[in-house]
Amino acid sequence: MKFEDFNLKQELNQAINKAGFTEPSPVQADSIPIILEGHDIIAQAQTGTGKTAAFGLPVLNKMKCDGSVEVLVICPTRELAMQVSDELFKFGKYLNIKTATVYGGTSYSRQIKHVEQASIIVATPGRLLDLLKNNQIKISPSWVILDEADEMLDMGFLEDIKTIFKYVPEE
Ligand code: AMP
Repeated sequence: MKFEDFNLKQELNQAINKAGFTEPSPVQADSIPIILEGHDIIAQAQTGTGKTAAFGLPVLNKMKCDGSVEVLVICPTRELAMQVSDELFKFGKYLNIKTATVYGGTSYSRQIKHVEQASIIVATPGRLLDLLKNNQIKISPSWVILDEADEMLDMGFLEDIKTIFKYVPEE
């Protein structure tokens, strides 16, 4: 199988080539068509097997790119959030898609400014919830991704995530 078989936007194929990817990994081959069809999905694969591109590429392909926040990715740790944000930025570069990374222990004002300009937010649960509860950001994403969901449950983030869901459209 080849990435071209997914019929992704030319800007995404360009980014895939630039990243040096030659063929989809198994989790990508399985997930990308399902997400492109608009279905919800739970995917499980080892670390380092390309899960970021497995959700990132099809979602980037479907985004309207109208300047609003269209995608919310929730990650258990700041390190993972930064890594995912970098990877999505790399794929979205030729579509001019901006990402904002939201995590604790750093300036609120800078993150709020970045969110206002972003189409994709990659966040850890605690800081995201702070910003939502304090009405510092308002978002209506069309896609929500729970990255390393099992890890987030192990870390006790279930209640935070349920509360975050109260701030995004039910559908
Ligand atoms: P991830 O599991 O998403 O953290 O990806 C692990 C690493 O594999 C990252 O450096 C990705 O850029 C890279 N990667 C993801 N998909 C592919 C692919 N199809 N071919 C080669 N490298 C890939």
